Amino acid sequence: MTMTETRPTPTSKPKQETTHFDVIIAGAGISGVGTAYHLTQQCPDKSFVVLEGMESFGGTWHTHRYPGIRSDSDLYTFGYRFKPWVGAPIATAEEILSYMGEVIEENGLARHIRYRHKITSASWSSKNNLWTLEVTRTDTGEQLHFTTNFLWMCQGYYRHEKGYTPEWEGMKDFRGVIVHPQQWPEDLDYKGKRVIVIGSGATAATVVPAMAADCAHITVLQRSPTYFIPARNENKLADQLRALEIDETWIHEIARRQILQEQAEFTRRSFEEPEAVKRDLLGAVRAYLGPDYDIEKHFTPKYRPWRQRVAFIPDGDLFRGIASGKASMVTDGIERFTEKGILLKSGEVLEADIIVTATGFDLSVLGDIRFTVDSAPVDFSKTVTYRGMMFTGVPNMVWIFGYFRASWTLRVDLVADFVCRLFNHMKKKHVRKVTVALRPGDRDMPLKPWIDPENFNPGYLMRGMHLMPKRGDKPEWQHTQDYWAEKKELPKVDLDASEFIYE
Ligand SMILES: Cc1cc2nc3c(=O)[nH]c(=O)nc-3n(C[C@H](O)[C@H](O)[C@H](O)COP(=O)(O)OP(=O)(O)OC[C@H]3O[C@@H](n4cnc5c(N)ncnc54)[C@H](O)[C@@H]3O)c2cc1C
Repeated sequence: MTMTETRPTPTSKPKQETTHFDVIIAGAGISGVGTAYHLTQQCPDKSFVVLEGMESFGGTWHTHRYPGIRSDSDLYTFGYRFKPWVGAPIATAEEILSYMGEVIEENGLARHIRYRHKITSASWSSKNNLWTLEVTRTDTGEQLHFTTNFLWMCQGYYRHEKGYTPEWEGMKDFRGVIVHPQQWPEDLDYKGKRVIVIGSGATAATVVPAMAADCAHITVLQRSPTYFIPARNENKLADQLRALEIDETWIHEIARRQILQEQAEFTRRSFEEPEAVKRDLLGAVRAYLGPDYDIEKHFTPKYRPWRQRVAFIPDGDLFRGIASGKASMVTDGIERFTEKGILLKSGEVLEADIIVTATGFDLSVLGDIRFTVDSAPVDFSKTVTYRGMMFTGVPNMVWIFGYFRASWTLRVDLVADFVCRLFNHMKKKHVRKVTVALRPGDRDMPLKPWIDPENFNPGYLMRGMHLMPKRGDKPEWQHTQDYWAEKKELPKVDLDASEFIYE
């Protein structure tokens, strides 16, 4: 009798295919979608794909779903320069998403975007002049490989999965619900409930008026006050031009110029005459809250205007909520959480059913992707930034990091022009690799944190600054945050200057 041998079925996996594109864009937020548009227009011969970890486009506007979620800057400038904005200046997330959806639809960008593709590592090989990306399909867990000549990082600046919540003593004792605005539960019922919102940035200023009407009461608990600009959510000039049936493309451009001119003036005044700006801002708040309200305690920050983002309050809705008695401000420290609410440093107790921690984001440097260059891990804090977009020692890569004092998207358009010009320049030179490097005269330059904390100091940056690339003391080696200067300088940058090393 012969024995039948049973062999294990071969388990070798099918060979993984690697997909190649000239350019890979990381992220389909406002930066990634704008970049995709500019590539199709300015470098139509480049093949590219947008890899997006989430199931849809929008980034910030897809992630944040708390009540009232809206922009805090106007959409004439937060919108792209190439697609007119036709609504009120401050827009809801839904309106921004539908605007972005139109950009995708009108320009045939959908076929370039792959959703649920999370990039986990990026390895540069100088031998092949290629990036190899490891990508995880978030729906199937499948591991994919992509190669690209150029990596265009549009992954934003904070972790989308989870917001930042400080650890307070006694949090576990609280019997109510604690919610971070970045993970808003769809079914959160706050009707008739007592709510505390911790924090007083743009998020708190949005969520409070949106919830006030339905809650029993909503309290903003802040450690220190923030500046706000209350104003009507309208652009009179744009509306007037619309009434004259002027073409929307013209209206968009004119409104942008008007807004940018006003913002330049506001920024200049914030630096040159901060006290006068402070008086103006507080005067506007007083107009809503009346002479007896303690503006000094609740709305007078210790810092100069513009050191943190100044949130726009459309139609003064936050202040109207306070004036109506539905919302109130408490400026105090947190001693600890209790079963019923929060014990303050002053000894006062605030009771609540729901506590919203509007305490900000977790900075994520380059999308939590493991970067290597020729097998050596990249520590971005050891690199120096070229104009806040490229990094010494990291070839063929750019990161779109927008403006704080002007709309983020203004920089998406400018950086895209710059990079597309760089691509066309490289094509003419027949080179495949570009790296930025300090010139001999730059080597003794003092290296400082990404941004001067004296100049701009939001919490997420302060907490994560040590992870960010360094800046030098020359405009080439820093993110100046100055849209008005960059608008003139970037198109004139000499791409054959010695800080660009081509191979
Ligand atoms: C609530 C809120 C309101 C804001 N309002 C304004 C405003 O009014 N004006 C203004 O100028 N700025 C505002 N900002 C700042 C805002 O984040 C930026 O303006 C802008 O939305 C950033 O766009 P982005 O595309 O660069 O990044 P994001 O919007 O953060 O999008 C990045 C995308 O990349 C994806 N991604 C990240 N890592 C990976 C990876 N490893 N693999 C694949 N995909 C990845 C993410 O899933 C996300 O979709 C606001 C921010 C917040 C949080």
